[in-house]
Amino acid sequence: MNFSEGLAEARKLAETALAAMEQNSVPPTPSNFKIWYAHASGKVPDLSKEVEQLLDQPAALTPERSDEIYNRYLNEADGGAAVQETSAKMERELADVLAAISEATGDAEHFQESLQENLRDLTKDQGIEGITKVMRTLVDEAQKMQSSNAELQKRLETSSKEIVSLRENLEEVQKEALTDGLTGIANRKRFDAVMESSIEHAKASGEPMCLAMTDIDFFKAFNDNYGHQTGDQVLKLVAKILDSSVRDGELAARYGGEEFGLIMPGASLEDAHTVCERVRELVSSKQIRNRNTGESMGNITLSLGVALCKPGDNATDMIQRADAGLYFAKQNGRNQTVLETQLEAAAATG
Ligand code: GH3
Ligand code: MG
Ligand code: MG
Repeated sequence: MNFSEGLAEARKLAETALAAMEQNSVPPTPSNFKIWYAHASGKVPDLSKEVEQLLDQPAALTPERSDEIYNRYLNEADGGAAVQETSAKMERELADVLAAISEATGDAEHFQESLQENLRDLTKDQGIEGITKVMRTLVDEAQKMQSSNAELQKRLETSSKEIVSLRENLEEVQKEALTDGLTGIANRKRFDAVMESSIEHAKASGEPMCLAMTDIDFFKAFNDNYGHQTGDQVLKLVAKILDSSVRDGELAARYGGEEFGLIMPGASLEDAHTVCERVRELVSSKQIRNRNTGESMGNITLSLGVALCKPGDNATDMIQRADAGLYFAKQNGRNQTVLETQLEAAAATG
């Protein structure tokens, strides 16, 4: 997120943010400040929605929760910067290796030339002295060549170790930038990227592709009754069930807050319906228990909406239609899956 207000506007936003933090007894830590500043700017609607919900439950304003919100909405750029930095290091290392190789190749060419020249000299009528001189030159050249080769070898070994470690580092950083901190499944950024590539693939191949959006039912009440920490455990559980319910090539992602997305390339509406119902039944069949006290917290349920990719669709279109199904599911008693075709049928019958 890019904040580039002028001085006066930035000062106004900072004052609004600080006043709101003061009023709600929020400690003015750097991440909190950034969250409240972003909220004051109105530039991150999803963040603002979460902040407003948090204001209804002051106990939920834990440092962990702020960190989580900060990382989810505002820390993306830092992840990107880390990726860029590691990539740049790798590029520099590779450039050094290439330079070393071309230097050595230069040496080899020089050796080749000198060898040919000296061999030519050898074919001339030469006295023993002349032959000895030519041979000495060749030995010298060969030795030079050998030592430059040994240096190159060493340089290449060091570089390849460095490159391997940079590559591992890069993979780690890239993975982190695409993973949701709380649940460990794909985050919104990865969701967006996979949506784009899946829609492209569906259009190019003519294969179907579905998106399901799901949201936990009455989760606010669950948080209010059992606390945010327990709520977080439930989010982890739902994420785990979603993640283990998708096949290779499909993606379960945390879309935001307590909303998740399932991207299913190759799936028809019927296929997607089957997956969603399996997930829904699995989640609702779990008895949520407090690990320490054994206290039962009952069950939680999911509402789901499903959209099928149509020609001309982009990610926003599909998300909107899946969300419409989800909204319909909420209106009709929750704990159910609504396909976009059901919505169309309901609209037709009024
Ligand atoms: P509905 O059935 O209509 O979805 O009702 P709801 O109460 O689930 O809906 P609402 O969107 O009003 O509330 C969502 C709640 O999710 C409120 C918010 O505090 C909670 N929430 C969002 N993100 C997190 C999180 O990371 N951890 C926890 N514990 N709660 C979260
Ligand atoms: Mg919600
Ligand atoms: Mg909900």
